[in-house]
Amino acid sequence: MNIAVASGKGGTGKTTVSVSLALYMSLGGSSIALLDCDVEEPNVNLFLRAPIAKTENFSVLIPSIDHVLCTGCGECERICAYNAIAIIKGEPLVLADMCHSCGGCFHVCPEKAIIEIPKKIGVIESGSAHGIDFAGGRLNISAHMSPPLIKDMKKLHHDADVRIIDCPPGTSCPVIESVRGCDFLVLVTEPTPFGLNDLRLAVNMAKALSLPFGVVINRAGIGNDDVEKYCKKNDIEILARISNIKRIAEEYSRGDCSSYILDNYSNEFDRIVNHIMEKTAADVSL
Ligand code: SF4
Ligand code: SF4
Repeated sequence: MNIAVASGKGGTGKTTVSVSLALYMSLGGSSIALLDCDVEEPNVNLFLRAPIAKTENFSVLIPSIDHVLCTGCGECERICAYNAIAIIKGEPLVLADMCHSCGGCFHVCPEKAIIEIPKKIGVIESGSAHGIDFAGGRLNISAHMSPPLIKDMKKLHHDADVRIIDCPPGTSCPVIESVRGCDFLVLVTEPTPFGLNDLRLAVNMAKALSLPFGVVINRAGIGNDDVEKYCKKNDIEILARISNIKRIAEEYSRGDCSSYILDNYSNEFDRIVNHIMEKTAADVSL
């Protein structure tokens, strides 16, 4: 079973919920994997603290031109939707940073003058801690192609009873790639106007992808009750409320908020898990 944890807005406590949920679900003896798909700003392992046992490079393929074979026909420039190839003085110039590795130019070149060469854009780190298998992607600074890295990460730990996927914030391509194929989506929000605005976007995404979902309100007690009203009006299940208390922030700053949260909010996590089990008809020992 795959459980994705997402939030329309960054800084809502998504990773705190992901790590706490993984730790909680691991208590029952099920095999749990935690995948950090927030590859532009991975921070799951700041809290899980799994020793990294393996680091693998991740590369995408970008075109390289054989200028002996190239006739300068311009087909590669015309097919490229990302303006990553420009014909200058009759010769194609590849702008590698703009390439999305779609392979289009390679396929249309009539002279077979394009070869695809690997370009490293990040790494995948893995290890384990507290009985949880961890894998986390880390995109290079200035690299922009996070979806292929996320897609590759999601091939890992398929044998786990439960895989918890910590998604990037927002609702754009990296998030869609992260939640694709998951069985349940936990949306973490905060009770503020910003939280509500971005929750609406995340709910629309979940509905567009036909994903079952529920909401966790973090920092409950701040802001107003508009998130509660929105969920009630739209018949959206609020799975849990985690209060805005100073102690959680202190533990968070030490990278250890999950043990405090589980000590004090185990009923909330019980409710989250039971709801997911019910909605997905999954059978996971807890
Ligand atoms: S499609 Fe091939 S032959 Fe034509 S300009 Fe591009 S690389 Fe050269
Ligand atoms: S691989 Fe795709 S994105 Fe990259 S240069 Fe070729 S056509 Fe453009």
